[in-house]
Amino acid sequence: MSLPYDAPVSQTLFDRASLVTPGGVNSPVRAFKAVGGTPRFMVSGTGPYLTDADGREYVDLVCSWGPMILGHAHPEVVAAVQEAVARGTSFGTPGEGEVALAEEIVARIEPVEQVRLVSSGTEATMSAIRLARGFTGRAKVVKFAGCYHGHVDALLAAAGSGLATFALPDTPGVTGAQAGDTIVLPYNDLDAVHAAFAAHPGEIACVITEASPGNMGVVPPGEGFNAGLKAACEENGALYISDEVMTGFRTSKAGWYGVDGVAPDLMTFGKVMGGGFPAAAFGGRKDVMEHLAPVGPVYQAGTLSGNPVATAAGLAQLRLLNDAAYEKVNAVSREIQELITGALTKEGVAHRLQTASNMFSVFFTEDEVRNYDDARKQESFRFTAFFHSMLSQGVYLPPSAFESYFVSTSHDARAVERIAAALPAAARAAAEATA
Ligand code: PLP
Repeated sequence: MSLPYDAPVSQTLFDRASLVTPGGVNSPVRAFKAVGGTPRFMVSGTGPYLTDADGREYVDLVCSWGPMILGHAHPEVVAAVQEAVARGTSFGTPGEGEVALAEEIVARIEPVEQVRLVSSGTEATMSAIRLARGFTGRAKVVKFAGCYHGHVDALLAAAGSGLATFALPDTPGVTGAQAGDTIVLPYNDLDAVHAAFAAHPGEIACVITEASPGNMGVVPPGEGFNAGLKAACEENGALYISDEVMTGFRTSKAGWYGVDGVAPDLMTFGKVMGGGFPAAAFGGRKDVMEHLAPVGPVYQAGTLSGNPVATAAGLAQLRLLNDAAYEKVNAVSREIQELITGALTKEGVAHRLQTASNMFSVFFTEDEVRNYDDARKQESFRFTAFFHSMLSQGVYLPPSAFESYFVSTSHDARAVERIAAALPAAARAAAEATA
C-alpha cells in the first residue's frame, strides 16, 4: 500500500530502534504491524495532542491505551510528580503515598476491602490468579477468547478443540503445562461456563474476565453475563476475578463495577490508576487478600511496588476524576462516536460502533460483535485505509482494528473539530479500500 505521507525522522528512529530492540518497539502493537507504515515516535504530549519527532501534531485517540484520561501533561499531575521526584524516587520501605492510593481505591470500589499495589497490569492478573489458586487449593482457570489479561503465561492460551477441553499455548515459550490448567471459552456464553464447571467439578479455582472487554475491540458483556459468571463461581466454590485494568476508573468513578454493580471476589487495576506511570493493583475480599504474604502463605512481592512517584501521579489523577470529569469525558466520547458513525454512514461503509461508557470501537461489519469470532469477521482492510487517512490528517487512532479508542477530559471543541475535518476523507478511503 502506498501511503499519502512520510515521516523521515520517525523512520530514522525506527531504523535505529530496530537494530537494538526486536521490531523496534517495546510492546508489539506499537509497531504498526497490523496497518503497515512507520510507527510515529512521539516527543511530547499536551492535553489531547501528541507531537511526533517530525514536528507533526496529532489529536490523540489512544491516550496511552487508556491511562491519560485527563489528557497529556495535566498540570496538577505534573506538579504532584515533580514534588514527589524531588523527595526521592524509591525507598524500598512503606510510604504514605501507597496508603493514600490504596485508601482511594478502597473508597471508590465497594467490593475491594484490601488492595496490593504492583507495577503492571500483567503483574496484577498473574498475582490474582496465584492468589485464587492458593486460596481455593485448585489449579484450573477459566478465561475467555479475545480477553487479554497481560502476558501471563497461563493466560496466553488458546481454546483447544471442544468447549471444556484444556487450552493450548497461544505463543511459543508457553509450555503445554502452563496452558494446560487454563480453559478458554467463547465470550458471552454462559452455557459454556456451566459446561466447564460440570466437566471439572471441584477443580476450577477462578473465572477471570475483562469487566467489559476492550482487547478484541469493545465487546460489552451481554445482559446478565457478569452476574451469571458470579453466580456460577459461587455455586462451584470458585472465585470470580474481574479484570478492570482497562475499565477501572475509566468507565466510571468505580470503573465497570460502577456500571453493572456485580461484585467480584478479586479485581485487577492498572492504566488510569497510575496517572501514566507503572502502577497497578489487585484487590478484593479481605479474607482472600489475607492469604497473601506476609499475613498468609501465598507469596507475592515487588521492588518498585507502590513506587512513590507512580503513586503520587495516580493519586493526583484519581483525585481529579470526580463526577464532572466523567460527564465530560463521556460527553466528548459520544460526540466523537456520532461524528465517526455519521461519516462512515454517509459513505455507505458497513460498520458497527460498540461502546462501554466512554470506551468505543468501530468494527467494519454490520453485525453485532458478541465475541472474538464475531470480531474477526470484520473487514479489517477498511480499517487500515481509515487509519492511514486519519493519521495523515493529524488524528492518531489505535493502530489495529481490534482495539478500543480512548478519549480524555482534555478533548475540547478544537480537537473535536480536527477529528470532524479529517473524517470525510477517511470514510471515503474506507469505502474505496479493497482487500
Ligand atoms: N488486563 C487488561 C484488561 C489489559 O487491557 C491489559 C493491557 O492492556 C493488561 C491486563 C495488562 O496490563 P499491562 O500492559 O500493564 O501489563
